[in-house]
Amino acid sequence: MFLKPIRQLNRSLIFRLTAIYALAFALIASAGFTVVYHRLHAMAMVQMDEELADEVEIFMARVAETGWEATIKRVIDEVAEEDPDEEFYRLFDTTGQTIMSTDLSAWEVAPPAVEIRALRDSGRPYRLQTIKGSDQDFETRAITALVDENRILQIGETLEEVADYLGVFRNLFAVLTILLTLITVVVGWGIARWSLSDLAAVSRTAENIAGGNYAHRVAVKGNLAEIERLAATFNRMLDRILGLMSSMRDINDSIAHDLRSPLARIRGIAEMTLTEDKPLADFKEMAASTIEECDELISLINTMLDITETEAGVARVESEIFDIVQVLSEACELFRPLADEKQIALVSTLPATQRITGDRKRMQRVITNLLENAIKYTHSGGSVSVAVETRGQGIAISVADSGMGIPAADLPHIYDRFFRGDKSRPQGGFGLGLSLAKAYTESMNGRIDVRSTVDKGSVFTLSFEQPSTPASA
Ligand code: ADP
Repeated sequence: MFLKPIRQLNRSLIFRLTAIYALAFALIASAGFTVVYHRLHAMAMVQMDEELADEVEIFMARVAETGWEATIKRVIDEVAEEDPDEEFYRLFDTTGQTIMSTDLSAWEVAPPAVEIRALRDSGRPYRLQTIKGSDQDFETRAITALVDENRILQIGETLEEVADYLGVFRNLFAVLTILLTLITVVVGWGIARWSLSDLAAVSRTAENIAGGNYAHRVAVKGNLAEIERLAATFNRMLDRILGLMSSMRDINDSIAHDLRSPLARIRGIAEMTLTEDKPLADFKEMAASTIEECDELISLINTMLDITETEAGVARVESEIFDIVQVLSEACELFRPLADEKQIALVSTLPATQRITGDRKRMQRVITNLLENAIKYTHSGGSVSVAVETRGQGIAISVADSGMGIPAADLPHIYDRFFRGDKSRPQGGFGLGLSLAKAYTESMNGRIDVRSTVDKGSVFTLSFEQPSTPASA
């Protein structure tokens, strides 16, 4: 029951960043304070050792001044006045015989013989050591010094003061680490929240959009360049999705519209066949119309599939070398009867041959579509001309007409699926011819361009950047 909110919190980026800041800070602070603490400890020990050496010197100065007996007496009296576990003095000769000793009941010290051996082993006239008795709360620092040829003085002092002093720092450092870590948590949380506030805006917009509010956009000006880039990409993606959705809606509308009329006609024919009594010849005529309507529907569906497959890059595109002049001549011959019927002059300016690499069938289809449009959208008495020329390394094929032209506002849309110019509606057609021409041309690494002036005519140009064999006249 409690695990879910904890798991959610653990997955939050703000929480993780804050936790990482805090952990990193706590580790660095602890390491820093540990180093300082050890330095302080070392300094306190050095000071303590200096104090012990001073005490040996003071003892010997007194010996020089007042003699051994008086000095010993004075030391015993002085130590007796203090707590018995604060300081001790021992004087023994080099054979291990104790000459003098303060109250040692509170100390756990080694016998003189052990100290003498250790001093001798050290090879120096004095030796400093830290002693920790099993019953003692604090350690003891002791100096053992050879003060003349056969006397050894040992002075020990409790490290209680040093421990107290270091204890103060230890507590201070612990409190500081906790306090500073808490401050880091607050500051880190603030920084993480501030850094991710733009991301939160992106996520809020995404939620809004998921709820159906497609008009929402993320504010691009933000705190961080990375998030700004994300916001801009996100908005671009949204625009594109909206564009695709709107074109899909248009396509759906167009399909519904374009399918409805032929289907209604087919249904009408079928109904007539059922309800009316007509001669066989009439029925045959109706069957022929049905076939015609069906063919048109099949052609519409096939063209759509063709465009989709070609645009998706899954259609098979041949790469063969063929004579484009032959393709253009055949197309002109195909359309000449129609042009003659409309009293349109169909002129071709072609070299004898011009080889090109591409998919011959696709090229035929593109040129057929352009020629069909040129004749369809040109009034009788006008002209349509077809030409091919080399341009640098490439080839340009143009189909020009002196027809009705395309309004500037329509130009950006003529390659859209199902787009039909307002003035073109009486001419019939599905609005797929140019979409297919563009998809096919691009699948052969070419491009299609148009120049058009209303009431003057249009020129569609197909350009292919490829090494071509020189045109021969
Ligand atoms: P369709 O010809 O079936 O309408 P297309 O995709 O071939 O579809 O052409 C789309 C639109 O572009 C046409 O409806 C027409 O408005 C315009 N168009 C194409 N070619 C020409 C042309 N040669 N002259 C004038 N308008 C043209």
